[in-house]
Amino acid sequence: LVRLRARLSRSQTSLGKGLLSLLAREHLDEDTWEEIEDTLLTADVGVTPTQELVDRLRTRVKVLGTRTPDELRGLLREELVALIGTEADRSLHSARHSAAEAGRPSVVLVVGVNGVGKTTTTGKLARVLVADGRSVVLGAADTFRAAAADQLQTWGERVGARTVRGPEGGDPASVAFDAVKEGIAEGADTVLVDTAGRLHTKTGLMDELGKVKRVVEKHGPVDEVLLVLDATTGQNGLVQARVFAEVVDITGIVLTKLDGTAKGGIVIAVQRELGVPVKLIGLGEGADDLAPFEPGAFVDALIG
Ligand code: GDP
Repeated sequence: LVRLRARLSRSQTSLGKGLLSLLAREHLDEDTWEEIEDTLLTADVGVTPTQELVDRLRTRVKVLGTRTPDELRGLLREELVALIGTEADRSLHSARHSAAEAGRPSVVLVVGVNGVGKTTTTGKLARVLVADGRSVVLGAADTFRAAAADQLQTWGERVGARTVRGPEGGDPASVAFDAVKEGIAEGADTVLVDTAGRLHTKTGLMDELGKVKRVVEKHGPVDEVLLVLDATTGQNGLVQARVFAEVVDITGIVLTKLDGTAKGGIVIAVQRELGVPVKLIGLGEGADDLAPFEPGAFVDALIG
């Protein structure tokens, strides 16, 4: 939690501390409620969730009457956690069963536009799974970004996972197919496929991602499609998310670069937008900077 707090420090200052100090004002007049609203909107919580939260806080603060700092903290925590939602299944399908139990590896597609942290996330996730005793094969299906396959292979060597790659500029679907084939042959527990993310044209992306998925499914079902979004891109990220959601059934969101932004509220907005849970968060460039997303811990880190 201490580490999470340090990494979320920018959101903590602007969102968590900001809200607490506003709520602690002696007179909660209209102007203050507007400031509370602005704080939430600035942190990218999104219009509808902001309205809901402000309404709930207004009602509860009224009932409370006088407010101690502890009461305010507890109330804000409860409402933020409720807004994020605790019922969603945030576990990774890929971590649920081993190949031995299922008779085949679980297959995870990692999708998202270039630069959001897809390859890094794939590498970090491999590390988490290997540390958990699972054997992992990596598929470098981002054949369009010149350095992507090298970058992924470096991660693979670091964590002890074989990387399947193809010729530069080659067919991403064929690399993905080969990676899963290799995973089956090796009896690996999980195959993580890093896909290409050029968002030149929506149709191009649709065709390509759709093809990757269809081709991989020749080996069996895809267990998880993780959409990687850069938290610092705010509303832009939401637009991307919508495009991807039209192409593939996303089963989980990875929100990266939460360490570099004051807009931690995007966690709430993105889940609302897609109806898909945030499962993992990226908190830095290092190998250990990927964490499971836990609403309670996240909110605790935010409001200090
Ligand atoms: P891709 O094009 O989507 O595969 O993106 P990369 O994995 O190459 O990442 C792009 C840049 O973002 C790299 O410099 C990464 O180190 C950086 N990055 C990825 N995840 C995080 C994160 O959680 N926090 C920070 N600060 N940087 C990150």
